Amino acid sequence: MDFKVAVIPGDYIGPEIVEQAQKVLDHVGKKFGHSFNYVEVDMGGVSIDKHGVPLTDEALETAKSSDAVLMGSIGGRVGVDSWYQLPPHLRPEAGLLAIRKGLGLYANLRPAYLYKELNGACPLKESVAEAGFDMIIVRELTGGLYFGERKTEEIDGVMTAIDTLKYTEDEIRRIAIKGFEIAMKRRKHVISVDKANVLDSSRLWRKIVEEVAKDYPEVTLEHMLVDNCAMQLVKDPAQFDVVITENMFGDILSDEASMITGSIGMLSSASLGAGKFGLYEPSHGSAPDIAGQNKANPIATILSAAMMLRYSFDLDKEADAIEAAVQKVLEDNIRTIDIMSEGMQLVGCKEMGDCICDRI
Ligand code: NAD
Repeated sequence: MDFKVAVIPGDYIGPEIVEQAQKVLDHVGKKFGHSFNYVEVDMGGVSIDKHGVPLTDEALETAKSSDAVLMGSIGGRVGVDSWYQLPPHLRPEAGLLAIRKGLGLYANLRPAYLYKELNGACPLKESVAEAGFDMIIVRELTGGLYFGERKTEEIDGVMTAIDTLKYTEDEIRRIAIKGFEIAMKRRKHVISVDKANVLDSSRLWRKIVEEVAKDYPEVTLEHMLVDNCAMQLVKDPAQFDVVITENMFGDILSDEASMITGSIGMLSSASLGAGKFGLYEPSHGSAPDIAGQNKANPIATILSAAMMLRYSFDLDKEADAIEAAVQKVLEDNIRTIDIMSEGMQLVGCKEMGDCICDRI
């Protein structure tokens, strides 16, 4: 099959890591008989330098007209890069917000997987790390507290700030469907996280999630209160498969889940919109401190490309092949500097890409 992929290299290590992900995709394409046609899109600092804005309308249109978007990372250093002397709406990160909005991406997926070869990096108790974990947090991205009406005003002589947490049943239904669809490709277990003992929005969330669950009889559904979830993530992360939750809870829990893996260079992510469309990117930033030195770990971006195959193109076998090759590289003791430990073989960004290709 043929796929059109918009590629956003971005800033600093972005181009280095994206190049490795494309190399791996091409390798998989050759092996399984697909071709990936790339069209490059400027976004972030590089776009500011070329076009004066972090994302042009043309760039957004190019992204919209492709089957999926693969991104490196954007942004630079405040106080160092001139991009940060611009007003906020013209800075690199504004490009990210604009593309998410322009592409209608409403579901954020953050997998958190602990490779047993790296469990020394896990900050949890040894017995918990030994058990391992493999979860994906599906966070609603466009509703809730971050997008509700807000104001700060003086009421009866007292400064008062108000934020509104609003969800419609349609917003809840579409994210719940995404969560159950993802669970069908995994271990078929959904934990829906809310605060239904206090919040009306959570009570509606729970009701709609239960309705959606009826269409997925193979998937087991559990509900968990968000405060308990925060504790369970560090106490027994192995219990989680797919977590679905609203915007703010997801913001906090997905960072917590990333943290317990201990290795930022390994964490992929995706933002999905209607149908199969999605934007895939590593969870980390543009790492200006190591850019241009062939030191960056490309695995998070390579695993993001695997997610693209799985969730946008339904190429599960091909995604499995990439994930297995990453696993094999670790078993073979090959490491980039961020995950290096004694007795391992240190390689650069490009060599890590080659090693993964060799194992597909
Ligand atoms: P960062 O994630 O770029 O770097 C934090 C630390 O982790 C650095 O020491 C870096 O060298 C290391 N690191 C990150 N990715 C790595 C990799 N693949 N391999 C090896 N080491 C890696 O976070 P930061 O320094 O706070 O942010 C730098 C810039 O990235 C900022 O402008 C920030 O806004 C931006 N950012 C962008 C995104 C995105 O594009 N979605 C996400 C987060 C941060």
